[in-house]
Amino acid sequence: MTELLPEFRYHPDPIATGVIVPSGTACLCCGRERGYVYKGPVYAADELGGRLCPWCIADGSAAERFDAHFTAGTRLGDDVSLEVFAAVDRHTPAFTAWQEPQWFFHCGDGAAFLGLVGAAELTAHPDALEMLRQESNDWGWPSDQVEYFLGSLDKDGEPTAYLFRCRVCAAQLAYADFA
Ligand SMILES: [Zn+2]
Ligand SMILES: [Zn+2]
Repeated sequence: MTELLPEFRYHPDPIATGVIVPSGTACLCCGRERGYVYKGPVYAADELGGRLCPWCIADGSAAERFDAHFTAGTRLGDDVSLEVFAAVDRHTPAFTAWQEPQWFFHCGDGAAFLGLVGAAELTAHPDALEMLRQESNDWGWPSDQVEYFLGSLDKDGEPTAYLFRCRVCAAQLAYADFA
């Protein structure tokens, strides 16, 4: 019987986003086969990709034991306390991005990561699309180049956008990266 996955308030559905997958691999931290492993990025001296169970991420034991981080220390948006940042960086599964994953902070808290999105998905999230447009404008691109870039976003390809929702004010937040 499989245990219920721990709750990750900053990454509400890590199965849907694809970073926690069913697996018979034993966790390097607790040594147990618990039915799932995390296959997203881990920043640590040891090679831990695909070798940690969600429970050892949630309770911080993996971060503690291996001095591991999950978001490469990068953040977007508000400045937050170290405690809030650590709750994301040391207790929350990250996500696979083209570049190192960055996390959004808003209203003094970590935002909830909802998943990868492309132009098609962003039509349902106009505020996030507008945020990406603003960011591209800030790069000094001409507007036709900005619109071309936004139209080329692809959740399965490149460039990709990463969608979050503020847990306090429910604002949609997004950033994009491309190689
Ligand atoms: Zn474990
Ligand atoms: Zn907010």
